[in-house]
Amino acid sequence: MAQVTLLTRGYMHRLSGGVIHASPSVTLIKDSGINVLVDPGANAKILVEALFREGLTPDKIDLVFLTHYHPDHVLNIRLFPDKDILDVNNIYRGDLEIPYEDSIPGTEIEVVPTPGHAPEHAALLVDTDQGRCLVAGDLFWWPDDAVQKTDHRSLIDLEDEFAFDHVVLAESRQRSLEMADYVIPGHGKPFVVNLP
Ligand SMILES: [Zn+2]
Ligand SMILES: [Zn+2]
Repeated sequence: MAQVTLLTRGYMHRLSGGVIHASPSVTLIKDSGINVLVDPGANAKILVEALFREGLTPDKIDLVFLTHYHPDHVLNIRLFPDKDILDVNNIYRGDLEIPYEDSIPGTEIEVVPTPGHAPEHAALLVDTDQGRCLVAGDLFWWPDDAVQKTDHRSLIDLEDEFAFDHVVLAESRQRSLEMADYVIPGHGKPFVVNLP
């Protein structure tokens, strides 16, 4: 059974002058002896400290999965210069792009394409002792000052000012919620799924 640890909870708020202060939820998944880091984020200090609390350093991470390419989710890949970087369907190893399908190679972590927030967006579905965990990236996210409503309708209709395609996003949300028991959102706190 895989273990999912939320290393740092994602945040997002606005400062003066149009500046956004944001870094996403950074998640560690341990499956079949492989350490997978999901969305390393943009805050190197809190990531390194959180890894340290788990008895880890960046070189102990085996691969880094990116839910999508927004820079606040991606910037810390510079802490992992020699590691495989995965997106929805490719492993990036240096200048090689190696296609893969369905699950992260060597693990039982399921890769679920979830376009809408961004065209390349994907979430991860992980079987844990607590049920099926959806590491959702920005399929769901809230600014820090938002009330986090997690009833089914509110989740499907959740506003996303950065969405690429709102219709496709709603479809991705519906499909993913049907598969998950609880969700780690891109920014905000984890929540339990309660479908009607
Ligand atoms: Zn995003
Ligand atoms: Zn984000």
